[in-house]
Amino acid sequence: MSVLSGISPERVFYYFEKIASLPHGSGNTSAVADYLTAFAKEHSLACQKDSYGNVVIFADGTPGYESSSPLILQGHMDMVCVKEDSSTHDFLKDGLRLALDGDDLYAEGTTLGADDGIAVAFMLAILEDDTIPHPPLDCVFTSDEEIGMLGAEQFDPSILRGKTMINLDSEVEGVLTCGCAGGGRADVILPIQRAAVRGIPLVVKIEGLLGGHSGVMIQSGRASANKLMGRFLYELQDVASYSLEAISGGEKDNAIAVMCRAHLIADPEEVSLIESFAADFQAALRMELAGIDDNVLVSVAKGEEKRVQVLDLASQDKAVFLLLHAPHGVRRMHGLLPDTTETSSNLGIVRTTAGEFVISELVRSMFSSGKKALIAELRSLAEFTGARFQRSEDYPEWVYRKDSPLRSTMVRVYEDLFGKTPVLEVTHGGLECGIFYSRIEGIDIVSIGPDLKDIHTASEKMSISSAARTWDYLIRLLAELK
Ligand SMILES: [Zn+2]
Repeated sequence: MSVLSGISPERVFYYFEKIASLPHGSGNTSAVADYLTAFAKEHSLACQKDSYGNVVIFADGTPGYESSSPLILQGHMDMVCVKEDSSTHDFLKDGLRLALDGDDLYAEGTTLGADDGIAVAFMLAILEDDTIPHPPLDCVFTSDEEIGMLGAEQFDPSILRGKTMINLDSEVEGVLTCGCAGGGRADVILPIQRAAVRGIPLVVKIEGLLGGHSGVMIQSGRASANKLMGRFLYELQDVASYSLEAISGGEKDNAIAVMCRAHLIADPEEVSLIESFAADFQAALRMELAGIDDNVLVSVAKGEEKRVQVLDLASQDKAVFLLLHAPHGVRRMHGLLPDTTETSSNLGIVRTTAGEFVISELVRSMFSSGKKALIAELRSLAEFTGARFQRSEDYPEWVYRKDSPLRSTMVRVYEDLFGKTPVLEVTHGGLECGIFYSRIEGIDIVSIGPDLKDIHTASEKMSISSAARTWDYLIRLLAELK
């Protein structure tokens, strides 16, 4: 049963509902890809699907636009699958249960997938309609964006005709995104030797921090529990002696660590010194982090004396050295763009196994040189301590263009249509645009989208009226790109 019939723009919501009825979580987009190829066939449009599940549908320019420069429209077809604890939804086979709450469209108990189903719906509604004037179009539907931009990474852009691209994967109406940082993960893997000692086991915990996504919140100054632990352990050496059994903190390389735990072994007479140091450390942090992380907690839990395999002295020194010196936070703000982080790193994960101590960071920069500089620091720390260094998940930046004909047109059309100036933004998070930017020489890209709230959660919502305005804007833009 249709929930959205009668809601305008009708064909956009028709296709949105259609996509929502097909399971399309990341790694499971074949039903949507098949739907897109069938759609192209039905409308006699050229279409290519590659072995990674990316689909491109090509359309000629409408009368008067036959020889205009081709435009790439792009969005991703996969969605993040998150549901409420009580939901019995099966993302592998069930369609979403769409529902309305005033102006908000949501899915009962699950993510809505408006990120990025709305892009798919916009493109299909344009492609089927003979009355919408537009230049030649290359409509690109990528797979598996949400699990590391895998589809875009494997996509061959040489099949595209356009050198101008509108990406439809943004979440704030009235914002034109014009660039993004590149990023990559770096792991420092220190081999450790162990030795047996007897003493009182202590678990030092640093917690109560707010954390957040490192692409969005790194410039907030929110503290990393991992970074604070490095400082704690180094400074503690001046006050008391201890041995280190393990450190573990943080869960994701792209999330600011909210908790870090260090397992220590100490002689009985050192325990009270360590406890009082922890209390002083917490008091100092409460002062430093007031207004940022007001609820930081530093605690020490004591166990019964026992014999434990701890890091030997040399390994402990190196582990503490690495944690103290691993770069974390904003390295530099952008010189030309106000309030925009240029380069940062996040000391996201620390873990210890029987034979290794591992630090994992996510490094981001608007410039490949900025990323390279931070990677060099991490690699040098690894070399100096005899650790292995490993890079992965590297993705390119999309550099802000001083001159962008597409952006100029988009600003002008926005002002004409809405009587106000759009906000130009460069994001510190990663976008597929970076991959297109790095592979299509001279490409001019802007990213837009309607208002979405709480994406990647079961509370995801899309504003119906915002989607309608974004549609009007897109249609006007197509007519202007003659
Ligand atoms: Zn998205």
